[in-house]
Amino acid sequence: MPDHEPAKVYPKGMHAAIAEGLNEHSDFVVTTATMDEPEHGLTAKVLDETDVLIWWGHIAHHEVSDEVVERVWSRVVTDGMGLIVLHSGHMSKPFRKLMGTTCLLKWREAGEKERIWVIDRAHPISDGLPDYFELPHTEMYGEPFDIPQPDELVFVSWFAGGEVFRSGCCWHRGRGKVFYFRPGHETYPIYYDANVRIVLSNAVKWAAPVAGPAMADGGATEPIEPLG
Ligand code: ZN
Repeated sequence: MPDHEPAKVYPKGMHAAIAEGLNEHSDFVVTTATMDEPEHGLTAKVLDETDVLIWWGHIAHHEVSDEVVERVWSRVVTDGMGLIVLHSGHMSKPFRKLMGTTCLLKWREAGEKERIWVIDRAHPISDGLPDYFELPHTEMYGEPFDIPQPDELVFVSWFAGGEVFRSGCCWHRGRGKVFYFRPGHETYPIYYDANVRIVLSNAVKWAAPVAGPAMADGGATEPIEPLG
């Protein structure tokens, strides 16, 4: 089973491979931000200019600044920025804050095959995909996955070891949309896969903000019609 150091699979970093896939679409303007940059590269100015943020993280979740997490959360629920959370990002601070649950799951790193079934065939994120697609070597994630019931379930994965997993989940949070996509362990070349790239580009389009009314501030209000 091929199992390589992340630096060999992604010599320029995973973020570069994800960006490369998105840059196949001329209508996207793609930039990257990494942990080591000031404010993790997610300054207020950067987020204000971001329609959809894609988040991958693993061992350093606890090192992410709470101020940046609050900023991401606010951009999603108040302003409608889309958030796409990948793989081990299920334990990231922004995702857990938006879900309100532990987001724990079962896992096994044995390089086994994953078959990803398209469950919602009318969903924009399924556009252009076959009935199912396979990744020959993956880290397994298994149910139970402690998330709130997804508003839309797009993909379910089966693994060679027998587990299943809700691997493509959508939620609406305030004005924003959140998509969780399971594949993406750092030692396998997942983000070069053509179907994975279709999923991510479709997800960006789905999660992008729409020009709906702004969030209301709440509070006491006068009637629109006279109450007599
Ligand atoms: Zn992993």
